[in-house]
Amino acid sequence: MAKAITVTCKNPGETFNLGIGLGEILAGGDVVTLQGELGAGKTWFTKGIAHGLGITDTNAVTSPSFTIINEYQGRLPLFHMDFYRLENKEAASDLGLEEYLYGQGVTVIEWPERLAGIIPAGRLEVRFIFSAEDKREIELIPHGKDWEERIAKIAENLVL
Ligand code: ADP
Ligand code: MG
Repeated sequence: MAKAITVTCKNPGETFNLGIGLGEILAGGDVVTLQGELGAGKTWFTKGIAHGLGITDTNAVTSPSFTIINEYQGRLPLFHMDFYRLENKEAASDLGLEEYLYGQGVTVIEWPERLAGIIPAGRLEVRFIFSAEDKREIELIPHGKDWEERIAKIAENLVL
């Protein structure tokens, strides 16, 4: 099994910085899934990814719960999805997700559990675990592509 890496982020800023490190190395077609309870930090992390992709207005990056998909333009297009409110998989098939998931942009998905079966096998899985009020354990789990080498590089360059 590929090697996962766990990073402890002691405050939202550290979670943001970890997201920047990822955003800087993302390539077109990459898919990143974010799992964790409400308030775990998935959207904070996505703001960091956006910053790392050169999207300057990261305040604009909010949970797309009501719209399901938000799109931002940086060094690459960023598609930020949140399926928390998705009713069923049939509703997902109406969204034309393949166009995003297999396109030239980067796709970041909150609540991928709601989409099981539709998510590409090659992806970076990120899991957020509450360890204290302001502290989160963030686990990076590589699936295919060259994710194992890439997360090792992120961890190496990480300054928290
Ligand atoms: P999610 O998208 O997972 O529902 P958000 O990123 O929207 O969560 O919210 C996370 C909340 O937790 C924010 O209010 C943030 O300030 C707070 N928080 C506290 N500590 C952290 C941390 N280490 N990383 C990320 N968010 C944190
Ligand atoms: Mg969110």
